[in-house]
Amino acid sequence: MEKTKSKVAQRILLSSPHMSKEGYEQQFVQEAFETNWIAPLGKNVDEFEKELARKVNIKAAAALSSGTAAIHLALKAAGVGVNDIVFCSTLTFSATANPIIYQNAKPVFIDSDERTWNMCPAALEAAFKKYPDVKAVVLVHLYGLSADMDRITALCDKYNVALIEDAAESLGSYYKGQMTGTFGDFGIYSFNGNKIITTSGGGMLVSNQDSRIAKARFWSMQSRDQARHYQHSELGYNYRMSNISAGIGRGQLMVLDQRVEKKRKIYETYKRELNGLEGISFMPENEWDEPNYWLSAITLDHPVITAERLIEHLDEWNIESRPVWKPMHLQPYFEGYDFIGTDVSERLFEHGVCLPSDTKMSDEELAYVVEKIKELW
Ligand SMILES: *Cc1c(COP(=O)(O)O)cnc(C)c1O
Repeated sequence: MEKTKSKVAQRILLSSPHMSKEGYEQQFVQEAFETNWIAPLGKNVDEFEKELARKVNIKAAAALSSGTAAIHLALKAAGVGVNDIVFCSTLTFSATANPIIYQNAKPVFIDSDERTWNMCPAALEAAFKKYPDVKAVVLVHLYGLSADMDRITALCDKYNVALIEDAAESLGSYYKGQMTGTFGDFGIYSFNGNKIITTSGGGMLVSNQDSRIAKARFWSMQSRDQARHYQHSELGYNYRMSNISAGIGRGQLMVLDQRVEKKRKIYETYKRELNGLEGISFMPENEWDEPNYWLSAITLDHPVITAERLIEHLDEWNIESRPVWKPMHLQPYFEGYDFIGTDVSERLFEHGVCLPSDTKMSDEELAYVVEKIKELW
């Protein structure tokens, strides 16, 4: 019998932009139009920085054109330069690692911990022993799950090395009551279209050292010295967020808690409905964690149903799902760099699936996804 295609007209997505129903974003953008503050700077940029800093409880923030730009400037601010070693979570999106190369430094990839899916403290400690002259650590809080921050900050303190937290996927997540992105010397957030809130594209660099944020802001605007003419004593970048994007961000920040709430409900539904199925395990839950549930992720260890099979099956029904990130040490581009660890991240890649976690999903659509998953068992 030929399969009839999905009754759901619209493809069900992993995670897509979701503007507030109140239209907050449009109000801030409208205000920018009315005051002709279209670009580059203006009130929305300044206010978005302040509002985000208040939300995550940190001293200072610089609004930038992307999360990647924020990682780049964090590395530069941490003094990372030519041939420096930087430890980096291997299980992540390439945007975490690419800026290390922009600085002509050398990444050393660190394996995941089964318990958090994030940087393994034991592997990190082994890396410190192998590379005592390391310059910085870039760790990721994947899918809104936090890394083991007590052990990792203790190690970075012990070896006196700068810690940069890539919290691109974890805005709104807490570790022991403190927001991810605020533990290290620097934290970064992303407002790309697939993240929990979006500015259509953008990022934020945060730190409790406001002078270093001021410096990053200066670099992000072409390092223009105080002078009537264009005077430059340092290399500059065009990394500043526009006033329009910042307006969208201000509106989105007002609904961040609602988005976390909905993402949690999606995760809880999957957990309740799928928990008994043979071979399914859910992403780790630790007592210290209060995730934002950006993506609901599972692993599959079943004799017949592989991760790939599930993804293909859902795709046939117009439902988007994805494998867990492919580790950086397995990427052709990063082949020549060292890796410290075992096979934890590799196994997560082989067995992991991210399920649709779009906050615009209706209860009916979510039930439909659950039904289609169960069909395979
Ligand atoms: C999205 C993402 C980034 C990059 O953010 P952009 O704003 O797209 O540059 C960095 N790291 C991780 C883990 C991400 O998921």
